[in-house]
Amino acid sequence: MVIVAGLIVAFVLVLIFSDRKTRNCRWREDRTLDVGEGRAYRCMACGALDSTVTGKPPKDCKAGGKSV
Ligand SMILES: [Zn+2]
Repeated sequence: MVIVAGLIVAFVLVLIFSDRKTRNCRWREDRTLDVGEGRAYRCMACGALDSTVTGKPPKDCKAGGKSV
């Protein structure tokens, strides 16, 4: 059971850290860059560009951890 608990803790930590990593990204819809059904988003923090078809901002930053 200790091992299972450890795995859960590790998993939660990974979630927290990965979330913190992308939290710096502030995706903003840029309608001037929309393509078809896709929505273009620009990251206000690092300037990355991405587009999604889900209507929601991208989860990841495309800048690959480049600091601002
Ligand atoms: Zn970003």
